[in-house]
Amino acid sequence: MQDGQDVDIGWCEDIGLQTGMSVLPTRPRIGEDGRCWEDICRDLIAFKTSDHDWRGGKVPIYVYYDSEELLGVSRDAYNLYFSENALGRRAFPSIVRMESDVIGMALSLFKAPEGAVGSFTSGGTESIFLALKAARDHFRVSHPREQRPRIVIPRTAHPAFDKAAHYLDCDVVRTKTTTDLRADADDLAAAIDTRTMLIAGSAPCYPYGVFDPIAKFGQIATSHGVWFHVDACLGGFLAPFAREEGYCVPEFEFSVPGVTSLSADLHKHGFCAKGASVVLYGSRALHARQRFHFDNWPRGTYSTETFLGSRPGGAVASAWAVLQFLGRIGFRRLARKTMGAKDRLVTGIEEISGLEVVRPSDLSIVLYKSSDKAVEINAVAESMREKGWFVGRSREPDAIHLALNPVHTRMIDEYVMDLKGAVDNVRSSGRLGEHDDHTY
Ligand SMILES: *Cc1c(COP(=O)(O)O)cnc(C)c1O
Repeated sequence: MQDGQDVDIGWCEDIGLQTGMSVLPTRPRIGEDGRCWEDICRDLIAFKTSDHDWRGGKVPIYVYYDSEELLGVSRDAYNLYFSENALGRRAFPSIVRMESDVIGMALSLFKAPEGAVGSFTSGGTESIFLALKAARDHFRVSHPREQRPRIVIPRTAHPAFDKAAHYLDCDVVRTKTTTDLRADADDLAAAIDTRTMLIAGSAPCYPYGVFDPIAKFGQIATSHGVWFHVDACLGGFLAPFAREEGYCVPEFEFSVPGVTSLSADLHKHGFCAKGASVVLYGSRALHARQRFHFDNWPRGTYSTETFLGSRPGGAVASAWAVLQFLGRIGFRRLARKTMGAKDRLVTGIEEISGLEVVRPSDLSIVLYKSSDKAVEINAVAESMREKGWFVGRSREPDAIHLALNPVHTRMIDEYVMDLKGAVDNVRSSGRLGEHDDHTY
């Protein structure tokens, strides 16, 4: 039997892709001859024709974009440090310096106390993972007999908490929200027991875009003596600037008594290249629990404060450059754009009979649902997809979900017009659709 064929069969079975086709799909191999860059580049660009148009504002998730100018700063800075590895702290003091600038600016922005420290991570998931790891190791010292610590978080907290708890052998209790979609502080307080190592609140949460009662959570954490993590991954680099622009944004920073750690994503409303977030701690001692230290192999000491080993220097350079480029004035301008887009979209949707905006949303999230049996939201979602929009769906309530950023300023009128058309079409045809909430 030919070598290639043999391998192909095994591969198909492994990943369950047997299709009953007479011709087996072939597994690609590295080509014998290399190809010229011009051809490869043409392929790469051609591949993108299958993707959704994020530059045109058709994607309400994943990409945070304002202008080619800002993107250029972020990308060029990344490329300048494309090869440098942020693991190599002694080889690349340049990266250490930029990282410490970025963390310092984040500590200032989030009103961290004297002596607070933080880390540059690859994203919100890693930031949250590290906060849980630090909290767990801190908890183990005071509760040496507790086998499985527990975290208590609102129902609306990001799945990254469950992912981290899964890796760290912790249990998760999710508590109720109130009718205003914010976490129910009493329900959360009641769920805290002797195994509870951490509580968390979102500032704001992804499903509804609302802030949990962070001040109340701080009091609860203090009175129970538990770690309190504020997840500002989504809104961290938007909220302070929206507040300065006059939007009502509650205190969620370290100025709130009881806050132990805080995460904020630079690669969302910080407009940096993907792979950039910060996790901050009120003290050096708590941050130290994050560290992994290892000595028992031939190569010598291996000690890192984050999860990754090799890390892209480009992400650090991009973050540093974007913060320099925008300044507070730039961030305020972008906050105005994002919030303005949201206000216009909310107004536009409310003028369409048969739809209802789910309120409140404190920052950039817009959620809307059907208010009329004749307008099934699944069918509206499908119709919008047919018009070229990437549609984010939400389950509770059954709704359409958008996370707005400056790029969406340009698309509001077209979106609202298409939405009107979609609703008319669904109403007159009696169309029903299938629920599909696999956004990720
Ligand atoms: C995006 C997000 C996260 C996770 O961040 P990633 O960068 O996707 O890993 C966590 N919490 C909230 C509220 C988020 O919006």
